[in-house]
Amino acid sequence: CGIVGYVGSQDAAEILLKGLEKLEYRGYDSAGIALLNKGGVHVFKEKGRIAALRKAVDQSASGHLGIGHTRWATHGEPNRRNAHPHQSSNTRFTIVHNGVIENYKEIKQELLGGIQFNSETDTEVIVQLMERFVDDKGLQVEEAFRETLSVLKGSYAIALMDSENDHTIYVGKNKSPLLIGIGQDFHVIASDAMAALQLTNQFVELMDEEIVIVQNSSKTIKNLSGQMIHRSPFTVKLDA
Ligand code: GLU
Repeated sequence: CGIVGYVGSQDAAEILLKGLEKLEYRGYDSAGIALLNKGGVHVFKEKGRIAALRKAVDQSASGHLGIGHTRWATHGEPNRRNAHPHQSSNTRFTIVHNGVIENYKEIKQELLGGIQFNSETDTEVIVQLMERFVDDKGLQVEEAFRETLSVLKGSYAIALMDSENDHTIYVGKNKSPLLIGIGQDFHVIASDAMAALQLTNQFVELMDEEIVIVQNSSKTIKNLSGQMIHRSPFTVKLDA
């Protein structure tokens, strides 16, 4: 169970795969990545080792923005269908999530009635809520993201992509670890600094119930009410 994300000028696929390999020690049963480019979102996922995922990733698939996941199944058996990333029905939103959404059944009944789900995961409610809040309530994506997270009970580290915005990753955290790694013209998202240390040693820590709007050379931290939060980065020093 781990998350990586990248937005910058390099090709995201290899960065995500390398990051996921560094997270292998945490244990997992399946893995996946999603890449965003001018042609849209491309999702690759497999049961089993990162090596299997690596083989499944189309070598011609590229993108300067992407998210990746190793899954430790809690809801829904470990198979390809339940592997992350997950997408909303209209495929506009793509998500990776670590943690457990305790009220996912209530959310399905009360807020997502009539929706056809593509997986048995608790995670899928998050991305379906995004679609509903944007399409039915007419909310802006950032507002919809804060609204979505306000509905969730449980733990989450989330990275979310919007297929209509190829320079932004939306990140959220509650009771699951998540760091933002800072580079010259890129940002990297990781549940453990290990997954990003080949790129940077500057990180910003996220606190519970915070979101970050992450782009190449900017990152804006907010709370769920939308107030900006300022936090200084720290340097991770590796023991020789
Ligand atoms: N609860 C989610 C699932 O079962 C995420 C599990 C995880 O943290 O890897 O798919």
